[in-house]
Amino acid sequence: MHLIPLPAFADNYIWMLHDDAGQAIVVDPGDAAVVERALNERQLQLRAILLTHHHHDHVGGVAELLGRHALPVYAPVDDRIAEATIRVSDGESIGLSSPRVRFEVLAIPGHTLSHVAYVGDGLLLCGDTLFSLGCGRLFEGTPAQMLASLDRLSQLPGETLVCAGHEYTEANGRFAHTVEPDNPSLQARLREVAGLRTRQLPTLPSSLADERACNPFLRIDAGPVADWCRRQHGGASDRIARFATLRSAKDVFR
Ligand code: ZN
Ligand code: FE
Repeated sequence: MHLIPLPAFADNYIWMLHDDAGQAIVVDPGDAAVVERALNERQLQLRAILLTHHHHDHVGGVAELLGRHALPVYAPVDDRIAEATIRVSDGESIGLSSPRVRFEVLAIPGHTLSHVAYVGDGLLLCGDTLFSLGCGRLFEGTPAQMLASLDRLSQLPGETLVCAGHEYTEANGRFAHTVEPDNPSLQARLREVAGLRTRQLPTLPSSLADERACNPFLRIDAGPVADWCRRQHGGASDRIARFATLRSAKDVFR
């Protein structure tokens, strides 16, 4: 199976998976033209669309793609995703025969209330919930919900490849560095990220093991992260308070 992040808009990735027989699926196709170009260049046939959440930059290309391809559109239960043909919810699995893929659906509310992730074949397709070195903004959910969602994702095997919806790694890394300047794994990842970005290459997918070692939002219980939260106004009375403190500090970080 081949995994390709297709850049779209300023910083989105539309994740494409295809097999050697030219059968493909895409996740969160915000821009149909980007997908069509990739299909044509590689002589692929689009067989399914998976959606993680309702935001326009993730679903905006679906209607146009459906006009040209007959295929199932998997999406969470949410009226705001009108183009869905198959609704998925937590704990369900979806299997396709061509390309041969199998994903488990995880409900991960926080960025939006109906946000889901797809986990399978060593991949985590997590939309705008987990980013490399960061996490999504809380547009609809509470800090407790988002933390529970990130805790769930964090428990997946370390070799899982994190396929996130945006190239935010460099900016996330600057914030992560202010929280944990002495974390050697983070320092190494920041050097790697700087090298990739100067060559205009994606910093994704990352490994979940790397995220657990470097991403402050998965390190709420680590000593230096807890200490940093304690020094902020939001405080650090418990892990939800630490997460809320960290997330609001990131919201205003420049
Ligand atoms: Zn979003
Ligand atoms: Fe997005």
